[in-house]
Amino acid sequence: MPVPDPSSVRKAAHSLPPGVVTGRDYITLLEACKAGGYALPAVNVIGTNTVNAVLEAAAKNKSDVIIQCSNGGARFFAGEGLADAHEARVLGAASMARHVHTLAKAYGVCVILHTDHADRKLIPWVEGLLELSEAEVASGRPPLFSSHMIDLSAESLDDNIAECARLLPRMAKIGISLEIELGVTGGEEDGVGHDLDDNADNAHLYTQPEDVLRAWNELSPLGHVTIAASFGNVHGVYKPGNVQLRPEILLHSQEHVAKALGSDAKPLSLVFHGGSGSEKEKIQAAVDYGVFKMNIDTDVQFAFAHGVGGYVEEHPKAFRYQIDPETEAPYKKFYDPRKWLRVGEKSVVERLEEAFVDLGCAGKSIASV
Ligand SMILES: [Zn+2]
Repeated sequence: MPVPDPSSVRKAAHSLPPGVVTGRDYITLLEACKAGGYALPAVNVIGTNTVNAVLEAAAKNKSDVIIQCSNGGARFFAGEGLADAHEARVLGAASMARHVHTLAKAYGVCVILHTDHADRKLIPWVEGLLELSEAEVASGRPPLFSSHMIDLSAESLDDNIAECARLLPRMAKIGISLEIELGVTGGEEDGVGHDLDDNADNAHLYTQPEDVLRAWNELSPLGHVTIAASFGNVHGVYKPGNVQLRPEILLHSQEHVAKALGSDAKPLSLVFHGGSGSEKEKIQAAVDYGVFKMNIDTDVQFAFAHGVGGYVEEHPKAFRYQIDPETEAPYKKFYDPRKWLRVGEKSVVERLEEAFVDLGCAGKSIASV
């Protein structure tokens, strides 16, 4: 039997079938990002238009991608007409996940499915989704999501870790990872967040290496954990100069934990919240220090609106009349929602191309196609 070329073996060992990745495969993808020195955009979606635009952008850029929804995004996915907010959040997130499970393979890339911030009052949302994933796994199918975020950064470290330790074994049992937050991300997202009035040097705003080590020691034996660390990042887009990103904070945590473990690698898998509008060199530094996931929400919202806005300006009458009252020209081919929603999708695809380049993940998909 011929000896295989070592580089092809390495490639095969790190390649995965296209589609949603969970459990071991999720960890394989995340480790490939860290080993390859790149990160994936985690894009907040609110409906099939944004989901499809993210999949299209990932396929076009030959990159794997992370699709996530906030509790508000999940609710919107279910339809604002559903009265029961809890039910809508659970069903909307499940609907989003099932849509992605159905389509991802066809786009030929690996997709991580995730839910964004869940503070104390949103824990039942995550538990509702875990119940649905348990039913999937019991029927021989993968869980709905690759990972969930629990954000108790507004509470004491004791309470934060205790609640994560309660939920993590249940998640680990069905191959779901946990993203925790240590230190708080400024700004606000769907009612979860913190204002920026605190002193910028407030220890609470910047993740402390000793807190990271403690969380790591207590949680990593229970399941797979990733960490959203605060290094001056905020949700939303602020005027340049208002926010000082300090990615070296991430390096300090990596070094502190690596030293305690007696390893010289980067043991932590870090998440960058509030990536919209960040300076390119700070993004690169964060990736160098172990960030494998950067959340993008605000910039994608703007891209969609900007695209549609341009279309409306170009064809204003089509949004007021079915037939032009003066010329009797029919406007059907302009007001058909597929026309202007598609313009919004294309605008999102264009904005995401920039993210794939910034994060160094373009052309790096590990999907075996
Ligand atoms: Zn966030």
